[in-house]
Amino acid sequence: MLLLSTDSRMDKNKKNFEEISCDLCGSDKYSIVYGAEYEKEKDPELVDKFRASGDELLIDQLVKCSRCGLIYINPRIKSDLIVGGYSEGSDETFVSQADARELTFHGSIKEIEKYSQTNGKILDVGTAAGSFLAAAKKRGWEVYGCEPNKWLVEWGNKRYGLSLKSGTLFDQKYEEGFFDVVSLWDVIEHTPNPSEVLRECNKIIRTGGILVINYPDIDSLVSRAMGRKWLFLNSVHLYYFTKRTMTEMLKKQNFEVIKIKPYFQKLEMGYLFFRGESVSKIIGKTGGTIAKALKMEKRLVPYWLGQTFVVARKKSGVGK
Ligand SMILES: [Zn+2]
Repeated sequence: MLLLSTDSRMDKNKKNFEEISCDLCGSDKYSIVYGAEYEKEKDPELVDKFRASGDELLIDQLVKCSRCGLIYINPRIKSDLIVGGYSEGSDETFVSQADARELTFHGSIKEIEKYSQTNGKILDVGTAAGSFLAAAKKRGWEVYGCEPNKWLVEWGNKRYGLSLKSGTLFDQKYEEGFFDVVSLWDVIEHTPNPSEVLRECNKIIRTGGILVINYPDIDSLVSRAMGRKWLFLNSVHLYYFTKRTMTEMLKKQNFEVIKIKPYFQKLEMGYLFFRGESVSKIIGKTGGTIAKALKMEKRLVPYWLGQTFVVARKKSGVGK
């Protein structure tokens, strides 16, 4: 019965799915990490599924490349539909945490300055509402940002007085070697083509410039402890890196990793429990109620669920 319903959903939507090969090494041989659970599909509109705070649990098949070990969703919804899904729709849930994000990012930009030794031109790719750039601007950086979601771009430009551009990185046609720093906060795992994104970043960063990436590490202690219940296992995350596969992909695109470490983010307690409901309804709801009763729902709490911070330097020459 279960199998029947799974098959019929796939059959019905086959034209919207694509089978892909490994983005890191090109192999099409893989083993299955988690089988598809399409029967759990709530059948959401793409717009809902691919917004910044999309919290749909992983229902697609997760595979591991037999040659290089990269973990990714395969088959997946076609990439043009994914990008289209990000561009429309509003996301009040995401921007409700803007204050908390600004606070985290204030620390992040100070940390980046240790490696960049300048506060020149910085680009934030997939900047959402631009909270990171707002923090960078306050510290004297010349800031640039792009984001596929038009509603977030407008919200950020209004709130922070920025000039964020809507669209993907590839739509912007930035000048070669223009930026001192490019950042990708919780973005690389969402992109249909991470190698191409890193290649483009390499092109637009000056030699010796810095690329900063934050991503959820599937090999982290918390991921391994939680297994199938890890909060970042999510149908909007198309790729699941480990320190090794991330380093490997950066190396291939002409970057040298100079720092890789756990990254603590801050969010309001009420919001964390709200997001936690997608893993455990009981814990999420109970926690949320207690936090509210103690008037702690707005309290900012640092949390770590495997987020990993990478700093890489652009080498001279061109990557593969
Ligand atoms: Zn591979």
